[in-house]
Amino acid sequence: MQAPTGSDAQVNGPATSAHATDVLVVGGGPGGCTAALRLARHGVRTMLVERAVFPRDKVCGDALSGKVMRVLERVDPALVDRVNADARRLPSWGVTFVAPGGKALRVPFSRNTGVGEAPGAILPRLAFDAMLFEEVKRNEAVRVLEGAQATAYEREADGWRVEVRRNNAERCTIQCRLVLAADGANSQFARHVAGLPMEPRHQAAGVRAYYQGITGLDPQGFIELHFLKELLPGYLWIFPLPGGRANVGLGLRSDHVRTRELDLKAELQRLVATHPTLKHRFMHARIEGPVQGMGLPLASKRHPLSGNGYLLIGDAGHLIDPFTGEGISHAMISGSHAADVSHEALCADRTDAAFLKVYDERVWKRLGQELAISTRLQDLAHQAWLFDFVVKRANRNPALADTISSMFTDLDLRARLKKPGFYMDLVLGRSLTG
Ligand SMILES: Cc1cc2nc3c(=O)[nH]c(=O)nc-3n(C[C@H](O)[C@H](O)[C@H](O)COP(=O)(O)OP(=O)(O)OC[C@H]3O[C@@H](n4cnc5c(N)ncnc54)[C@H](O)[C@@H]3O)c2cc1C
Repeated sequence: MQAPTGSDAQVNGPATSAHATDVLVVGGGPGGCTAALRLARHGVRTMLVERAVFPRDKVCGDALSGKVMRVLERVDPALVDRVNADARRLPSWGVTFVAPGGKALRVPFSRNTGVGEAPGAILPRLAFDAMLFEEVKRNEAVRVLEGAQATAYEREADGWRVEVRRNNAERCTIQCRLVLAADGANSQFARHVAGLPMEPRHQAAGVRAYYQGITGLDPQGFIELHFLKELLPGYLWIFPLPGGRANVGLGLRSDHVRTRELDLKAELQRLVATHPTLKHRFMHARIEGPVQGMGLPLASKRHPLSGNGYLLIGDAGHLIDPFTGEGISHAMISGSHAADVSHEALCADRTDAAFLKVYDERVWKRLGQELAISTRLQDLAHQAWLFDFVVKRANRNPALADTISSMFTDLDLRARLKKPGFYMDLVLGRSLTG
């Protein structure tokens, strides 16, 4: 396959242009960028349209898990080096859980904490996403339209005719064989073309703000998860950043937000100002900018990720972990699979739903087990007593604390949660790592 040839043929005067490509990626977040970079590797004729002009912000906790680093490594090891060298990034060596009763449990991500590369990091999306997007722009095999919003999709005999509005004025059309929808949590494509419903039971609402001057931030960049009674099954987070800054936010399933009639933006500010475990730490803290909110489409139930001529990536495919809220790595993993399947589909000259179904199989095979465990954990997270119990036990038993830490980094161990024996071991305070 050759490099993109999308021409700027003038169709209707100077304000309209037409392009043709094999794959159109809609959205240049982590999911869309990963897909585009991998499509370029396969030599597939690719265009990417992105509504925003970078650097653009994205409401997020900014936490990059080890999984993100592993996908980046596969896409291009130089990207890992670039992330690690970014001065706006804070390496993170572990997590502190605060149980509803107020007791804290500080667990390193691994036994070898402090040695080698940190397993996790916090890096503002303003920086991380711009770095990825620049990488795509630099890649000559991908044609990028920035400040270009896909506004309408029309199915044609052999693909799609997509209307795009550039810089809110100029219009263009793009003809393509495949659409990879990576347009985020409010994906127009997922809702109106793929017909993926937004269900409050399978969605969360999240808000976050940046603060300066919170006291008691962990010197080893441990992230903090506060399971406050009034927020269960959601939680409040404090994710430290360089220079005494922190990303502070909270998330809660949308059906709970509705029934409790919560204003999450106000709730965040109320909790940091008044909650007994937080207020002293925020006494002299200063908020930087507004509290901002966004939806998190959760993968707490399996649903189709593909159809005739399209694949859904990341948030557009509702792939966020229902317990932790992690979605960056899932967007990148699905983006990578979407690129591989697109390449195979074009080589086989098959872009029909039956052929593309293999994408669903691969994504659910890769993420399905951990998502099922997280869905179970989210169900258990209603139980304040369970958090208190586990944190109390683990504080007295370093081996158990280590086990819990491993649950966040070691899928095999997380899978043990499914087995009844795990709970017996938990009750008896036995280590599960040996
Ligand atoms: C409050 C909150 C906290 C979170 N915290 C974390 C965390 O700490 N760690 C983590 O891993 N995940 C977290 N997540 C989830 C994470 O933010 C998402 O899962 C992730 O951004 C998904 O990436 P994506 O590429 O699918 O979509 P996005 O990052 O949303 O990218 C979509 C892109 O598509 C563009 N776009 C939209 N519509 C169009 C259109 N019509 N035409 C062209 N372009 C379009 C947008 O401008 C955007 O750039 C959090 C989410 C929220 C809301």
